Amino acid sequence: LARQLVILAGGKGTRLATELGTLPKALADIAGRPLLHRQLDLAAEYDFLDVLVLVQHGAELIREACGGGEKWGLRIDYIEETRPRGTAGAVVGALDCLADQFMVLYGDTVLDVDFSRMMRWHNTLSPDATLLVHPNDHPFDSDLVEIDRQCRVIAFHSKPHPTERDLPNLVNAGLYVFERSALLQAQALPELADFGKHVLPAMLASGADLRGYRSREYIKDAGTPSRLAKVISDLTSGRVARRSLKVLAPAVFIDRDGTINQDPGHISSPDAFKLLPGSGGAIRRLNDSDYLAVVVTNQPVVARGEASEEALRDIHNRMEALLGKASGYLDGIYYCPHHPDSGFPGERPELKGECDCRKPKIGLIEQARTELEISLNQSWFVGDSTVELETARRAGLRSILVRTGQAGRDGKFPQRPDFECRDLAEAASLILDVWPQLAAQAAELMTKVVPGSCVLIGGLARSGKSSLASALAHILRQGGQSAVVMSVDSWLPTPNASLFEPCDLSAVETLIGNVGNETVVVEVPLHDHLTESPALSYSQTINPQDIVILEGVSTLALTASRARRPVYRVFVERNEQARRASLLRDYLERGCAATKFDELYSVQLRDEEVLIPGYRENANSVIMSALT
Ligand SMILES: [Zn+2]
Repeated sequence: LARQLVILAGGKGTRLATELGTLPKALADIAGRPLLHRQLDLAAEYDFLDVLVLVQHGAELIREACGGGEKWGLRIDYIEETRPRGTAGAVVGALDCLADQFMVLYGDTVLDVDFSRMMRWHNTLSPDATLLVHPNDHPFDSDLVEIDRQCRVIAFHSKPHPTERDLPNLVNAGLYVFERSALLQAQALPELADFGKHVLPAMLASGADLRGYRSREYIKDAGTPSRLAKVISDLTSGRVARRSLKVLAPAVFIDRDGTINQDPGHISSPDAFKLLPGSGGAIRRLNDSDYLAVVVTNQPVVARGEASEEALRDIHNRMEALLGKASGYLDGIYYCPHHPDSGFPGERPELKGECDCRKPKIGLIEQARTELEISLNQSWFVGDSTVELETARRAGLRSILVRTGQAGRDGKFPQRPDFECRDLAEAASLILDVWPQLAAQAAELMTKVVPGSCVLIGGLARSGKSSLASALAHILRQGGQSAVVMSVDSWLPTPNASLFEPCDLSAVETLIGNVGNETVVVEVPLHDHLTESPALSYSQTINPQDIVILEGVSTLALTASRARRPVYRVFVERNEQARRASLLRDYLERGCAATKFDELYSVQLRDEEVLIPGYRENANSVIMSALT
């Protein structure tokens, strides 16, 4: 099938008068190359042969700039409109020159979309037309498209939106695949018709099969001075290319209840859905970065008959609407409707039983990975329960436990988080602000640590030891080495206590002595963050080649005199003001009085002056914490 692309390049670009000078909009300079040339580059890359350019303003300039398409190996034809008649009007007017199937692209669009993949998708489902859809950061004042689970378009919602229910955040990006036969009927439409506003809604009303092709790829119009500046900056920063499906994307998988929103038990209606403070802004920050924001949630309410799939859709529409008010959007929402146990009145037997998608199973992560082309080892999972920590471990994701919702106290899986944050906003900051520096420090450390060694990471409470330990383990694993992280404080009677309280390190000394050239299994206690009571333990297998990373306040007090492996000591320091603030927050969370804290802290500081210089001196590396 010869592929044909229609480019709507008739626009004058009135809003870009200053930027364009005498050029038509399609020839706008985008980082040193005319916009239309960039579009033709893409057409050539995806094996199009025929391009039909519909021109009006500056027609001669466009013809001169692109010629017959020889430079691209394309055959370019031009149709000149003598009067404005809307985007669709122009295409419908040119139907005689069009193939049985063709793509349509607006001439003011900067994009890096895999045309072949979109065509294949269209041809698998064989609808009358396919439109590329994606979420945006201002859904409340956008024309929205509603699709069902089969991606069938069920409604177009132009502004103003209905007030009685929320709508999903999905907009028409202005890239289409059309069957020519389906457009023949549009010939009867009034002139000046626009695809998004008139033709597609009219087709839908007359029963046409339209599908929304959801994509994370970059596609934005450059129709106003600020949008033009944005696409140029996205091109030059490499953001456009990084959103291409040729590149696997990093993602932040986010749990829903207790992480994004309050968790009052189970949510069965939109009105019960309330965002936690800062969630919208946190997701917006992820949107502005290279990370995809993907919700992964267990919703057994569906199987138990407490909420229908329609009710769940309304709840997710509410979530998108609330996030949208803070300019945040989700690149995907994946949920498991199943539940293993029977015995609920009104339950749905077909959804009962074991499935592959209920966390901690990784079916939903796998589905998102395939559909969104995600690189799991660059990705994260943020959640409020050990179910997410276990899911993260199984999927090979870095985990962040937030202290909202269940705050990790569900006790379901004996998993320690790689990182711990106050809430989703702090998690976003860890990923975007702290991680790059932490990763650089870990990479530097990695060059100094030989395989099979024991790394002791010590320092004062709340100085960032466990973060550095997790980062080092991640970087080692990425480099093909295996690493095991354990918290020494877990073994002590009062974990996270002052460095100076007498503590019995013999169990840890024994552990270090036992780790040698054979596989050992160690039972590691886990402490509850808030109560400090021993809650759970887990079995940790340590293989001969594993790098064993022990972190904790008391780590550098270890003599490691019986060690059979090389021992590398790291001392972590942190800005005192930040450390004090973090420690105070810990105390307050545990119900201590702030007045009591001042006294404890001053005693601690005084004691530290005696011991710290020694630990610091004996360390092989001293690292300034990346935590702010
Ligand atoms: Zn499931």
